[in-house]
Amino acid sequence: THFGFESVAEKEKEDRVYEVFQNVATRYDLMNDAMSVGIHRLWKDYFMYKLSPLPGTELIDVAGGTGDIAFRFLKYVESQQQSASPEDKHNMSRSKNIELSSDSSSTNSDSTSNDDEVSETHTGSESHVTVCDINQSMLDVGKMRAKENGIYHGISWLKGNAESLPVKDNTFDAYTIAFGIRNCTHIDKVVSEAYRVLRPGGRFMCLEFSQVHYPFLQRLYDAYSFQVIPVLGQVLAKDWKSYQYLVESIRQFPDQEDFKDLIKHAGFCNVTYENLTFGVVAIHSGFKL
Ligand code: SAM
Repeated sequence: THFGFESVAEKEKEDRVYEVFQNVATRYDLMNDAMSVGIHRLWKDYFMYKLSPLPGTELIDVAGGTGDIAFRFLKYVESQQQSASPEDKHNMSRSKNIELSSDSSSTNSDSTSNDDEVSETHTGSESHVTVCDINQSMLDVGKMRAKENGIYHGISWLKGNAESLPVKDNTFDAYTIAFGIRNCTHIDKVVSEAYRVLRPGGRFMCLEFSQVHYPFLQRLYDAYSFQVIPVLGQVLAKDWKSYQYLVESIRQFPDQEDFKDLIKHAGFCNVTYENLTFGVVAIHSGFKL
């Protein structure tokens, strides 16, 4: 926009997105299961398998909502830790400490540090996930789920905008964003921020709805999205409009190739993508070298 002002349309989108997730927060997990007939769980499991984090990894999960990716991350690293030999465990924590100490000279950006909102002190030698989301209600549901599942360590909750993360440069080994980026107004800013907060060698991974390129399946998918999803939204969450918005936002998101170009443009290397379920969703990946 001219003179750096936000346009009315952009402000409207931000407010709309905020309102949607404010409205659905307490029913979000139920709705996810209902709308995808549980398939979102498989997509998220595969996403974590593809990231394959090692014990000691520091992850930021942006637009992390109620913690689905974060919980999978903690479970995955715990399973890795359990299957590692004592010698492996020693090496993992040793290499992590070396990496951290050599990183101490990294420069910080002028973005405001918001460490006060991170609810757990993190020493840096253990696996850790920071769940960042713009909507406090979604984070609150996530915190409640963590408590219900006895998860008290290795996780922090941070309120923040994906387009200007309240985090220092070169902080994380991995950055994930699942079903979140299409809700952001400037996706180029989101990807640039991912680049900024990752350490050199760090990995960006995005799980997002994408484009189905088979005409027959596309028609079927459109019919389901536009006719079934808003009805489910109305019946289960008494909210037709929010779910209609979610469907529209999927159609407006760039396709697999365009999004790949955008990630490359932000500076990431080895950018690839993989379609799941015929391209209903895609996983994009890139490295900061
Ligand atoms: N990642 C979670 C998952 O897969 O279940 C939540 C996905 S939910 C569809 C989208 C999330 O993006 C919401 O929690 C919403 O508040 C968050 N969000 C929307 N715009 C955002 C922004 N600019 N910065 C950070 N989070 C944002």
